Amino acid sequence: MIKLFKFLRPYKLQIALVISLVFLQTLSELYLPTLMSDIVNNGIMRQDVGYIWKIGRFMLLVALGGTACSIAAAYFSSLTAMGFGKILRARIFEHVERFSLREFDKVGTPSLITRNTNDVTQIQMVTMIIMRMMISAPIMMVGGIVMASLKDRHLAWILALALPLLAALVLFIATKGLPIFRAVQTKIDRINLIVRENLEGIRVIRAFNRTNYERERFQAANRDLTDTSIRVNRLMALMMPSMMLIMNLVTVAIIWFGSLSVDHGTLEIGNMMAFFQYAMQIMMSLLMASILFIMIPRAQASADRINQVLAIEPEIRDPAVPRHAGGEKGYVEFRDVTFCYHGAEEPALRNVSFEARPGEFVAIIGGTGSGKSTLVNLIPRFYDVTSGAVLVDGVDVREMAQAELRAKIGFVPQQGVLFSGTVADNIRYGKADATEEEVRRAAEIAQALDFISDMKDGFDSEIAQGGTNVSGGQKQRLAIARALVRRPEIYIFDDSFSALDFKTDARLRAALKRETEGATVLIVAQRVSTVMNADRIVVLHEGRVAGIGTHRELLQTCQVYREIVSSQLSEEEIA
Ligand code: ADP
Ligand code: MG
Repeated sequence: MIKLFKFLRPYKLQIALVISLVFLQTLSELYLPTLMSDIVNNGIMRQDVGYIWKIGRFMLLVALGGTACSIAAAYFSSLTAMGFGKILRARIFEHVERFSLREFDKVGTPSLITRNTNDVTQIQMVTMIIMRMMISAPIMMVGGIVMASLKDRHLAWILALALPLLAALVLFIATKGLPIFRAVQTKIDRINLIVRENLEGIRVIRAFNRTNYERERFQAANRDLTDTSIRVNRLMALMMPSMMLIMNLVTVAIIWFGSLSVDHGTLEIGNMMAFFQYAMQIMMSLLMASILFIMIPRAQASADRINQVLAIEPEIRDPAVPRHAGGEKGYVEFRDVTFCYHGAEEPALRNVSFEARPGEFVAIIGGTGSGKSTLVNLIPRFYDVTSGAVLVDGVDVREMAQAELRAKIGFVPQQGVLFSGTVADNIRYGKADATEEEVRRAAEIAQALDFISDMKDGFDSEIAQGGTNVSGGQKQRLAIARALVRRPEIYIFDDSFSALDFKTDARLRAALKRETEGATVLIVAQRVSTVMNADRIVVLHEGRVAGIGTHRELLQTCQVYREIVSSQLSEEEIA
């Protein structure tokens, strides 16, 4: 947790203020019992009303001062703690943003969400308590012991007996609690995971009547979390009664032995009362310390989880001295590329080599799982190759700045993703400063104009979160428009026409052909009719290149391609 405290630096002043306020408040609390014993010993016992009034007024003043300090301390400490939380969340978010897809796969989205919310809250809470108690508890304890022994030395043995007992108890519970607190956090992760999957997959769950199964799954995770939380709370519940027992025994002992001394005349009654109050203060501060002892391990578990995220170095980083691509534009080259997903046994791509030049339309075809998406994901450097190299404009993508590389590319992923916002916002995602005319043109080429004009507010129509209020084919066309508005050097379409009907598909490709004149176009497709006119077709089969050439050439030379073709086209179409 200490490691995270460096993010508290902007709040140095507030923290210093809180510490001084808490310090003053503690002093006032330590002073009050002494004043009270004065009133009892010198006022009440001697029936001096004037003295009682005088000290009484002073006592009131001290008490009011202490309260004011306490209120101000509460204000500034919560200010600091909340600010700390804000900084932490921002840090985690920024860090996670730089992750490559591999790191996302590693930690998992639900866990990242818990870490950025629940775990930060834990730390925030404990920071506030630390600021308030870390200072007051030790001062109160030491000050209380000193003041109490000044009042009477003969009763001090009671404290000497009780305090180690209390400390041992606190220590025992804290060490027992830590592992369970850690477990609680992972179980919250699990709940998050299930809730997320359920909310996102609600259509599938209903369609397949898996509601009951999912409910069971959630209940199992929920029960698990509940049981663990109950276990930890049982442990904590043990603490209160045992502490109370010790405190009450101390009370009895002080009054018992104190009154004997008063009887013998060796102790003034006011001193006994003051001693009693100091004993309570000491034990109260121990109690506070014990709360800290419970909360710190818990926050420590959270801090570890946050540090884990912050410690992950994104695998894909910009080189120290990025190379700029020269005058060449729109060249993509795969040089003997082999790529293996993290933890996978078989490489998803093996010895893939091919080239795409400006003005060319290169198609990639192959069965599902043959590695087509994997291949195109290597071009914007979503993953790094295992061996070989991917070159864009003659420069290895690993030597280029990521922003520069990606600015060259208009990428339409297989899963069309839209963001909440208007239709125009979504298209402008490709180019923030696109004019209305540019947006309109991109939509027109993407064959999206028809359905956009049919929407209630045209380009200003709202897209729901996750794009649920447009159809799959409409989503694809908007995603295509987003890539087009950018007018990049290299277009990459990953199976982006799959949800379109044949007519729209054909119209789109015709319009695209005019639009992408001079640019490099890479199209991943399943349909032979989509790729037939390509300048070059790369046929993938189980991660290997089965053949490269034009439709005509491949029909003669490539068995895999022939099979794909004959499964889709009739004899005369092939000819
Ligand atoms: P295609 O797009 O041709 O259908 P993909 O490129 O998506 O195929 O997948 C190729 C292979 O890589 C598949 O066997 C798939 O299981 C595997 N794969 C895809 N994505 C991942 C991933 N994130 N982690 C591990 N393996 C993956
Ligand atoms: Mg794919």
